[in-house]
Amino acid sequence: MIESKNPYTGEVIDKFKELNSKQIDEALEAADSRFKEWRTTSFKQRADHMRKAAKELKDNAKEYAKDISLEMGKPIIQAISEVEKCAWVCEYYAENAEKHLASKTIKTDASKSYVSYEPIGVVLAVMPWNYPFWQVFRFAAPALMAGNIGILKHASNVMRSANNIQKVFERAGFPEACFQNLVLSSSKIENIIRDKRVKAVTLTGSKPAGAAVASVAGEEIKKSVLELGGSNALVIFKDANIGESVKTCVMARFQNTGQSCIAGKRLIIHESVEEEFMEEFVKQVRELKSGDPLDEDTFIGTLAREDLAEELEKQVKDSVKDGAKIILGGKRDKAYMEPTILTGVTPKMKMFTEETFGPAIGVTTFKKNEEAIELVNSSKFGLGVSLFTEDMKFAEKIVPEFEDGAVFINELVKSDPRLPFGGTKISGYGRELSEDGIKEFVNRKTVYFK
Ligand code: NDP
Repeated sequence: MIESKNPYTGEVIDKFKELNSKQIDEALEAADSRFKEWRTTSFKQRADHMRKAAKELKDNAKEYAKDISLEMGKPIIQAISEVEKCAWVCEYYAENAEKHLASKTIKTDASKSYVSYEPIGVVLAVMPWNYPFWQVFRFAAPALMAGNIGILKHASNVMRSANNIQKVFERAGFPEACFQNLVLSSSKIENIIRDKRVKAVTLTGSKPAGAAVASVAGEEIKKSVLELGGSNALVIFKDANIGESVKTCVMARFQNTGQSCIAGKRLIIHESVEEEFMEEFVKQVRELKSGDPLDEDTFIGTLAREDLAEELEKQVKDSVKDGAKIILGGKRDKAYMEPTILTGVTPKMKMFTEETFGPAIGVTTFKKNEEAIELVNSSKFGLGVSLFTEDMKFAEKIVPEFEDGAVFINELVKSDPRLPFGGTKISGYGRELSEDGIKEFVNRKTVYFK
């Protein structure tokens, strides 16, 4: 049995029976045969269903959000926003998929030559618990609009949400088996990737999970997209607007109780503004309200599981042993971790080198701008970076210096259906969202008429 446990109360709220081999085979067979029809549907037919999915999400956002909060401790207001954002990505692809996948004529010596973008079949999504709806919808909306079929292996702690997602697509009138949630533990994934009815895989999660899935896909010569962890830097240059940048950095680190791949995890401040910045930053972080995730006033919930909070506490303690100083928070109670700030963090400490997946941030200072760029790039992660400066010419000039998948100026790194999303280095490869995302799982077919 796979269990959902409320991390705030510790109570088991639901149990799910894992599929047996026969049921897995039936699910893959249903997906494969559905593909044969779904691939022939028009963009308009697919878009009609996708718009209904958006409506279903908006109409029942509170109901879906409550299960998210119960399963993984996300504050309810943030859970509602997550469900509403999923409606946005459905509407975006309902509107734009046809345009993104329109054939592209290329002039050659042929009488006619072009590239057509065609669906590839059943795509497996292995997804995490931190945004139980959003991570899945940003895969499913483009995949289904492209004419592919989705099968989901969701994180074991959010199976109720996983079933709810399948329900959204069913209620929106998608034909049976267009999108299925498979109740499975990760040990069953290898055989599914190797199955000839599955054509590709996408994973969002940790590096070990990504490496395991991608190596099996590699052996089978199947396409994979990986969206792994990050350790985004928030860089405060000496001319930054302190008031605005403090507000943005608080959100960048502490929303979703810090459990986001694109959260700002390393605060890198010019030494001349450290005091002014930190005074306001500590004040605002202290004011963040912790509490019951179902309470509308709560901003900091619990972490999704107790072991995740223990891991974060260890990263904090190890960094303190290495010389960092806790200036706020630092204490843990079961799955809850206080919002925590450490100063004096150096590039050798865990708060800097590892991904910290919770409400804790390390502060490092720099003297010269080149030093800041080096600190940002010294991470093995490469998801994104936020730069805070009033000098746009300077910002534009240094953008090419960063190795990350995204550079945001005076804004936290965030995902937007219109913009490509993904990383470099051990943060993964491939892109989600926008035209780039929908083109990851299509056959770019070259057509040539002599
Ligand atoms: P995992 O990466 O283990 O889980 C993510 C998904 O991968 C889940 O569906 C999980 O299934 C599955 N999975 C895990 N191992 C394998 C495997 N060998 N083969 C196939 N599928 C697998 O994340 P954790 O929950 O353990 O979190 C650990 C850390 O990962 C976090 O602290 C954070 O640093 C990072 N993380 C990053 C995320 C991101 O957004 N980039 C999201 C979540 C975590 P199951 O739940 O059944 O194990």
